[in-house]
Amino acid sequence: MAKTRIAIVGLGKIARDQHIPALGASDAFELVGVASPHNKLDGVPSYKSIEELLEAVPGIEAVSLCTTPQVRYAVARFALQRGLHVLLEKPPGVTVSEVLALAALAAKSKVALFASWHSRHAPGVEPARAWIAGRNIRSVTVHWKEDVRVWHPGQTWIWQAGGLGVFDPGINALSILTRIIPSALVLQHAELRCPGNCETPIAANLLLADANGVPVRVELDFLHTGGPPQWDIDVDTDGGRLSLSKGGGEMRLDGKAVPELRGSEYPDLYAHFAGIVRGRSIDVDVSPMQLVADAFLCGQRKEVAPFVE
Ligand code: NAP
Repeated sequence: MAKTRIAIVGLGKIARDQHIPALGASDAFELVGVASPHNKLDGVPSYKSIEELLEAVPGIEAVSLCTTPQVRYAVARFALQRGLHVLLEKPPGVTVSEVLALAALAAKSKVALFASWHSRHAPGVEPARAWIAGRNIRSVTVHWKEDVRVWHPGQTWIWQAGGLGVFDPGINALSILTRIIPSALVLQHAELRCPGNCETPIAANLLLADANGVPVRVELDFLHTGGPPQWDIDVDTDGGRLSLSKGGGEMRLDGKAVPELRGSEYPDLYAHFAGIVRGRSIDVDVSPMQLVADAFLCGQRKEVAPFVE
């Protein structure tokens, strides 16, 4: 079967670290172009904007939008209107309303739209979901802590409105939680710590509850220095404790490692997108984003020391 001709829009860190290698190994996609204002990819036709790219390179069928979130809606809208299948990096936009508008536009245009959540493709996530499904949850705790200076050097967009601050990584935890916890999660309380010189929080504590009132405590911190990052979720149940670590990459049951977890985030993400393209379907789940939006709606904001990179 012919490969789908895909282009990357936004040639930054995640495009280079993950999307390009995953596409290089994909038997479903062929990378035929790049659009990025200040970056070019050797050996692949590269243009400054999606408009110039589509003008110059014929036959592009799909685009993968790896831009900063603040420009994603305009680029996605343009692509959908041109009849292209679209993959959105996370978060799928800066507001819930723009993402729902994109889903409606994709349906109208009869093209595929995938609001991807890469952490949901981590090897431990589906096994965790299956294990939890047969048990009663008693409590859940999440520690998602990293050093922003190490993981996001120079990414000033994170501190601007729409950049999410500590929720940029934190939404990955929420994307896993909303996949593995069987019932809908409701935000009960949020505390957001915001540097005086930033528009987005640098740390946050959330209290959520599932449909049975089980507490889900989430601690997010961007100033976790001096040690490895913590991307951990612990789920206590009547049948023992399940722990996901390394962002869903590893799973333990009552402390014992579960061996031979299969899969890899971005190759699996593109395999999933290939199915969506084949079916011209729409896979848009805004639940992780709704929880972030709720935290911004009702969270108590506390000003903390200015952030200087
Ligand atoms: P980044 O390194 O700052 O790259 C973003 C790129 O977007 C920039 O290189 C910029 O290109 C490009 N861009 C901005 N406006 C554009 C436009 N109008 N048209 C085309 N390209 C445009 O950020 P990143 O870390 O790759 O993150 C990008 C997205 O991926 C974010 O939503 C983030 O949450 C998500 N993500 C990041 C990671 C990670 O580990 N970094 C992991 C998973 C997901 P120029 O430099 O050419 O101007």
